[in-house]
Amino acid sequence: MCRSRRRSGVTAGRQGVEEAGSEGERDVRKDEIAAGLAEVDERIARACHAVGRDRGEVTLIAVTKTRPAEDVRILCELGVRDVGENRDQEAAAKAHELADLPLTWHFVGQLQTNKVRSVVAYADVIHSVDRLRLLEAISKEAVRQGRKVGCLLQVALDDDPARGGARAGELLELADEVALTEGVWLGGVMAVAPLGEDPAAAFARLRDLALLVQEQHPRATMISAGMSEDLNEAVAYGATHVRIGTALLGRRKPFVR
Ligand SMILES: *Cc1c(COP(=O)(O)O)cnc(C)c1O
Repeated sequence: MCRSRRRSGVTAGRQGVEEAGSEGERDVRKDEIAAGLAEVDERIARACHAVGRDRGEVTLIAVTKTRPAEDVRILCELGVRDVGENRDQEAAAKAHELADLPLTWHFVGQLQTNKVRSVVAYADVIHSVDRLRLLEAISKEAVRQGRKVGCLLQVALDDDPARGGARAGELLELADEVALTEGVWLGGVMAVAPLGEDPAAAFARLRDLALLVQEQHPRATMISAGMSEDLNEAVAYGATHVRIGTALLGRRKPFVR
């Protein structure tokens, strides 16, 4: 299914491969990614086993930011169906180029309201909903575009405002608002482990907050937590979705704006 390069008669996919190098280079890259995927799958399986969870409870989201669209196509060929991006401009271009693939697109970065129109056009789930104004903008666009967008409430597990996230005390009210709002559905919660704290302790707090939200909203079962460095701790504390970039695709080049 992922091999299909058909897109309303345009042969952009084929051209994309040639730009990326020969088929031989693609095979090498595919082997690399397959190895990364096998390793990450194994880590998730072991983390689940360690705490008596079923492997099927944890979905891998491949975070493909800074990676070429062809890497995403390869991931799809290897069976990955969930991909995560954190910058609208890059994500919009990739989602457009890969519109023929059966992928679920997760927007995991901080989101400004002026980007909402663009993000709502391709994102199936937005992991960074942390304030009412943002929720209202997402709802308005989703209704306008006839889409239903999943919303995860991003929780600040520390006091660093630069990283985004709602305070624990604001969470329940925000959850109620999502549940009452048109064009969106409440998926659950998301967090990034704070710097300089044991991620296990932070993810334990996230799980408690997730359970609190679930008391009022039993279907909001998603807990998006865990990156390459803290996947084990996240799975131990109930993550249903882990967001993995580096361990899957290798180290990113230093980000240049
Ligand atoms: C980049 C990113 C990830 C993936 O991080 P890795 O350490 O590369 O696995 C996960 N979540 C968010 C929000 C990110 O921005």
